Parts: sequence; structure tokens; C-alpha cells
Amino acid sequence: MLIEPSPHGLYCMAGDFHIDPWQPVGRAVITHAHGDHARPGSASYLAAKCGVPILQVRLGPEARIEGLDYGETRELNGVKVSLHPAGHVLGSAQVRIESQGEVWVVTGDYKLDPDPTCDPFEPVRCHTLVTESTFGLPIYRWSTPREIFDGIDAWWRANAAAGRASVLFGYAFGKAQRILASVDASIGPIVVHGAVDVLNRGYRECGVKLPETRMAGELGKRGRGTSRQENEDFGGALVVAPPSAQNSPWLKRFGDYSDAFASGWMAIRGARRRKAVDQGFVLSDHADWPGLNRAIEATQAQRVYVTHGHIAPLVQWLNERGIDAHAMKTEFEGEAGAEEAGA
Ligand SMILES: [Zn+2]
Ligand SMILES: [Zn+2]
Repeated sequence: MLIEPSPHGLYCMAGDFHIDPWQPVGRAVITHAHGDHARPGSASYLAAKCGVPILQVRLGPEARIEGLDYGETRELNGVKVSLHPAGHVLGSAQVRIESQGEVWVVTGDYKLDPDPTCDPFEPVRCHTLVTESTFGLPIYRWSTPREIFDGIDAWWRANAAAGRASVLFGYAFGKAQRILASVDASIGPIVVHGAVDVLNRGYRECGVKLPETRMAGELGKRGRGTSRQENEDFGGALVVAPPSAQNSPWLKRFGDYSDAFASGWMAIRGARRRKAVDQGFVLSDHADWPGLNRAIEATQAQRVYVTHGHIAPLVQWLNERGIDAHAMKTEFEGEAGAEEAGA
């Protein structure tokens, strides 16, 4: 086993490093900066170069992070390590590990659908694959991004025509920027929550094109004291905010608004109702069931370890298809964890 689960996270003994450890370790290789993968406290970090600015914000200014270009090889204790685009969020990487002719790939989170805010998923051939399975059930099948964003645009346009703001909740890192880069910015002004704005700066620094956005405070100030004026300012606006902003006083300034949630979990019956929003858009930064299968097949791996999600059904499915598949348990599993991480 080139990689094994350990109390601190996935461990490569030959190279003496951990991948996405959940406890502080000596050397951490990080697939991406979502909270369930990048944790502070390790002595040193290795991550894809384009993800370093955001990772630095998340881990703190004192964190020692070394950036690696996609495809560039680094030797750790004689083990060759390289990072390859995972298509999940800016700077997301699969980790390729080679030792004595044996190749393993750890996918981290990934998706195959096009996303203008990050490099596309690159299939990497390997003997053994460790794949995530957040949406590892046949019920999960995404529409094309074009169809999904046409739906979001139509909802925004209808609200704008009625003079209402459109408040769209999506995870602040990754989902929010994908929304901003994909909607039709000619419909109206776009307002972002501060938590989204901080991350937008990291994206823009890395050369990702996002439309012009404003902070709620910039628009709101003008109309302070006359609530009708404020409503006029925000009517027609798209407001992109993290899920944590739901039911917060921050939303009051938008007056009469329609709200919606963008997440892969919106595919589950009743999810929109449980979130108590007007609309649910099934938009995920993870591979759906056909995507997981395509990705696994493309690696030509003979052995697959399944982690991070619906493990048992995918393991069984792969075994039935002649692939030597097993579960690889990590500490944080299940819907709640994945939802936190912007699924
Ligand atoms: Zn993630
Ligand atoms: Zn994750």
C-alpha cells in the first residue's frame, strides 16, 4: 500500500507525507482549500500553485506553503509527487504518487463538467485510484452547465422584471465564483456578500475573469433612511451570498426578494423545502454518477479505493464490473461534511 489511512489522514509511508490530513503533521500535500481538506497546524504544505493565495488566507499567514505547477514533479523521500487539475475549484488537484514503478492517484474532490473558473479535470493513468464519492449514487445526474445557468438567468430575469432582488445562496469558495463567471451579467447589477468578495479577490489575482461586482454596503448607503430607495437600488440585482447568510439581518436591506439555493444536494427530494427557499438549482462542483464512472474508467486503474461520500454503493458497483474496489474510510464522512464543503 503506497497510501494508507492513518489517525492523521491518508498517509504515504514511503514518502513520509499526508494528503489532506485532519490533524497537524510534518508534511501535508493538499488537494484544495475547502475546509474539510485543508486544515491549519501542519509544519509544511505542498499544493497547486494557483491555489496558494486562497490556501494562505485559509491556513493563516504563518503557514509554510510551497506551490507546484500542475504536472511538475517533486521528490519527497524518493517518491515522485505531482499535482494534476481536478476541475473542482481554483487550484484543486489530484495527487499522483509514483514509487518503484507503482502509480497511485488520489483525486480529492473533482468534477468533469466545464467550469470557467478552474482548469479542467485531467484523467491520470494509474494502477491504484483513490476516488471521492460525494454523489456516488445512480440518482445523481447533473444537467449540463448551460441548462443550469439558463435556469438561473431566467429566474433572475423574471425577478428583475418584477423589481425584486434575486438572492442566490452558494458556498463562498468555488460555487460563488462559478456562478458569477457563468450567469448573464447583462441582466442587472451583481452584489456579493463580504465572504464571497474576499475569495473573488484571490480568483481575480489568479487571472480568473469575473464580472463586476459590488458589496451590499456600497449600494445600500445611498438609500439609507429611505427604504423605498434601497429597494429600488437592489431591485433587479443578483445577490450572491454564502449559505450562512440565510436568515441573517444582512438580508433585510434587499427588501422584497426571491431566494434560491445552488447545490448538488438540491437533487434530493425535499431539499429545497428544507432550506426554505423559493428555488433550488442543482449545481454541483462534484462529479455525478456518470462522471465518477467516466473518471474512474479513464484512469485504467485496476484497483480503486472509494472515500468521502457514498462509499458502499460505488464499491459494490465497481466490484460487479470486475474492478478490485474497496472502501477507504476517512474521518469526515457523510452529507453534512460534504455540504459544508460546497457540494
Ligand atoms: Zn471540495
Ligand atoms: Zn471534500
